Amino acid sequence: MPSSLSFLALVLILLVELLHGSNLPAATENPPGAYDLAVSFSPSTRSLTATARITLPPATGLALELGDLAISGMLLRRADGSEVVPVAGPRGRLQLVEEKELRELYISYRRQVDGTGDDLINPDGIVLLGLWHPLPDREMRFSLRAKLPPGFIAVTESDRFPLATEGDATIAVFSQPRRNLHFVAAPYAAASREVRPGLQVHTLFFPEERELAPSYLESAAGYLQRYERQIGPFPYNHYVIVANRLPTGLGLPTFTLMGRQVLRLPFIRQTSLGHEILHSWFGNSVEVAATGGNWCEGLTTYLADHAYRADRGEAAADRKERIVTYLNHVNDNNVIPLAAFASADHRQPQAEAVRAVGYNRGALLFAELEARLGPEVFTRAIRHFYARHRGTTAGWNDLRQAFSATAGQDLAAFFTERLERTDIPDLAVEEIDIRQTASGPHLSFRLRQKTERPYSLQVPVVVTTAGGTSRFSVTAAGGDTSVSLTTDGWPLQFSIDPEYTFLRRLHPAEGPPVWSQFLGAEKKLAILQSEAVRAVYQPLLAALADDSWIVKPADEVKVGELQDGAVLFLGLDHPLSRSLFARPDLAAAGFSLDVRRNPLNSGQPAVLITSADREETAATAPKLRHYGRYSRLHFTGGRNDLQQIAAADAGMTFVLDRLPAGAATAELQPFADIIARLAANRVVFVGETHTSMADHHLQLRIIEALHRLQPDLAIGLEMFPTSSQPALDAYSSGDKSMDERSFLKASRYFQVWNQDYRLYRDIITFARSRGIPLVGLNLDKEVTSTVFKTGSTAALPEAAGNSLPVDRDLSLPGYAERLAVIHDMHQTAGHGDGSLSGFIQAQALWDEAMAEHIAEYLTRHPGRRMVVLAGTQHTRKDTGIPPRLARRLQLDQATVAALPANTADLATTVDFVFATEPVVLPDQAMIGVVLQSQTLDGRPALKVGGFTATSKADEAGLRKDDIVRAIDGLAIAEMDDVRIALLDTGIGGRIAVDVERPGPGGTMERLQLTIELVAPAGHPR
Ligand SMILES: [Zn+2]
Repeated sequence: MPSSLSFLALVLILLVELLHGSNLPAATENPPGAYDLAVSFSPSTRSLTATARITLPPATGLALELGDLAISGMLLRRADGSEVVPVAGPRGRLQLVEEKELRELYISYRRQVDGTGDDLINPDGIVLLGLWHPLPDREMRFSLRAKLPPGFIAVTESDRFPLATEGDATIAVFSQPRRNLHFVAAPYAAASREVRPGLQVHTLFFPEERELAPSYLESAAGYLQRYERQIGPFPYNHYVIVANRLPTGLGLPTFTLMGRQVLRLPFIRQTSLGHEILHSWFGNSVEVAATGGNWCEGLTTYLADHAYRADRGEAAADRKERIVTYLNHVNDNNVIPLAAFASADHRQPQAEAVRAVGYNRGALLFAELEARLGPEVFTRAIRHFYARHRGTTAGWNDLRQAFSATAGQDLAAFFTERLERTDIPDLAVEEIDIRQTASGPHLSFRLRQKTERPYSLQVPVVVTTAGGTSRFSVTAAGGDTSVSLTTDGWPLQFSIDPEYTFLRRLHPAEGPPVWSQFLGAEKKLAILQSEAVRAVYQPLLAALADDSWIVKPADEVKVGELQDGAVLFLGLDHPLSRSLFARPDLAAAGFSLDVRRNPLNSGQPAVLITSADREETAATAPKLRHYGRYSRLHFTGGRNDLQQIAAADAGMTFVLDRLPAGAATAELQPFADIIARLAANRVVFVGETHTSMADHHLQLRIIEALHRLQPDLAIGLEMFPTSSQPALDAYSSGDKSMDERSFLKASRYFQVWNQDYRLYRDIITFARSRGIPLVGLNLDKEVTSTVFKTGSTAALPEAAGNSLPVDRDLSLPGYAERLAVIHDMHQTAGHGDGSLSGFIQAQALWDEAMAEHIAEYLTRHPGRRMVVLAGTQHTRKDTGIPPRLARRLQLDQATVAALPANTADLATTVDFVFATEPVVLPDQAMIGVVLQSQTLDGRPALKVGGFTATSKADEAGLRKDDIVRAIDGLAIAEMDDVRIALLDTGIGGRIAVDVERPGPGGTMERLQLTIELVAPAGHPR
């Protein structure tokens, strides 16, 4: 420990050298006290040596944080000339209790900068942002006297710029009281420009970036003018844009420090620079009070980042992206109220969530405020706030007061709700009703707030009619709000808050699948294509994966696990990813990231990533965090060259009615002309509603016409599975040994399809008469029903599983959504027994299998064309079989259908429509009995179990328990036989029925009865 005397000698030497032994200030000086710092640098040893002289006004105490500064001596000198050596307490803290007289404290110290943090001292430059001088616990007036290495230009918080020099010392004085100084110096190239008389803007760039200076000076001048107009006078007479070798983005009083690596990026000058300059008003001139919450990042983000997007017409998009970012990063486990946001630090725990609260929830509070008060009142309140708190500190309460006073309304409840609550508004719309009234069409609905306590909200509602849009604002303060709107035309749709004027939960259809959705998900499953590719993706896992990630090779993942949360596929050449996304068109070169809705859980993202090699991954991985708002990205050598956000609804949107599409009759073409155009295609899909006879008539006409032009035609049929092919081959080739009845038996038509055969009979008979091959396209029913019920292909017998197509695309746009609607209808109708995930997989399997079977047939028969008959959902050219066939085989194809009742999405689903006359097929006649399958003497048999209300069988003598053995001479053993036997007999027609009736003592009586057939009505009696 140095003696008091030798220490005093050291202090005095430093004082003479650096502080020029200035006199003690007059004892009348008022608080806050002065902090004079003298510093010299030794770049070669990466160290600084400094003495701080702190002048404490009378009746003032002080605590100083010394951190890891190497203190070489301390001395406290009182006004009476007496001196003591103060002693620092534990954890590097020096505490001076209040005394009546003025005092001076001298501290000499050395600091070594190791180069691991944001601080830097070396021959290329000096950056001091951390604890590089003793930190007072109160604000003081700083002055600085620095000896710089030769050729260096320095910047710090200062009343003027460039800094003054005195001999070999550089001098800065800053009159605004502060608790610390930041200091930067390097061999910079300086440039400057006048903004207005009394305000200069400067750049201190490295020689390599000096050509960027003019554009930065121009942009900075623009921002300074913009905010002086909007908020009030700039608080200083200069502003310096300083390049840093370290990657920082800091807005400090009188200057900003920007990482030189990013200066060339356009968004730095277009956004970040303005943000940092605006911090001069909010953050530096009006400082954030130590208690009362950090309001300044939210306000700065709103008046800078958001405002610049608004200038480009992207205000609503910006707010929506902020909501999406908030929802993707903030969850029940990491949420904090806005009032608790304190620091923007990237290194704090849960930094992404904390920043989403401070920046995005904060900015959205101001957006909501502006939407409520109007831009004029909003701007006046901002000016008022600045004028009142300039040069001091402020908290959220001061903002509340400024806005309440300017708006002339008490906004306490508004601020309290948004600052203190951790939940956010969550809206639902119920009981929608439209009515034509004397005053016009009337749209009413109930707006429900799903949060435990309602928020007080102004909810914009936009109603679209054929005549345009009408805007309404609904005050929703309670849990339920009845909304009733009169519109100027019949409402076609309406949207709740389509411009995102406040932070709220989004409807699933509003949220585009984006990358941050995965990064913020609570459960993340990353699936490696195989262990072999782990090295390729290792840099990504190293950069991003934490405890919330589970990383597994695809072979160890079960389909069921994909439904649980967010999934990420690293490499896509594995049956698991191929069963959901087939082979997506991602670039083979570089690094691709594609975010989709998880087809098995639409609320969760599925991210597809491919990388050409480990180098591409390594170059991209560190940057990926910054691209959270995108759905689709591509990087080459780490450079981003594609960024897209998927489309989604604007606002919670409810479609009430869709206007039908039409066409000029002048555009109608004769049948033959359309056939000529269809004939140019190798595959023509003709969609059907299975029970519509008119659709089957149309199919036959098209087949006939195409066959006339191209005899080498085949007919693909959804109605038959591939296992029926031998029967189809025999029958269509005209095999005389197979008549219609035996064809129906052999093909198991009634078991596999269960529709009235007369619907298809003319088509199949025509094919037989012309020898047109019939091709069964379907899967066996057991396959799709097993997948539907179990939600996976795992439960299938191995042989069945192996025959399925490997590439199955569940993520065609709109596919999962369309199937979800159908699935919901089935569930509400009470005959759904499988999960949505199983349903979607079964449907995709069905569509993919039919596409595969068509492709196989056409590959085996290169000269042949095909007409495909299937339900209109399967023949849709957007998401049905056609795009899946196109993936497998390059060929021309067209889709045709009869004009459906709903024409709204016709153009996306078919290429040609025909208007058809309705064709009514007479009801299939029935015996009117309930037949039960039995096994008698080891053979199948049918027993009469009961009679329907309209049946005439009992009066003809048929009895319960009779065994039906033959109808019109055709042997009857199972239900197929009955349906075949009754095909051609109409209602009122008579059939001869051979029955066996159990007699006394186990005997069987044989009888023949004549029974009149009835219409299919009535219930068993
Ligand atoms: Zn900021």
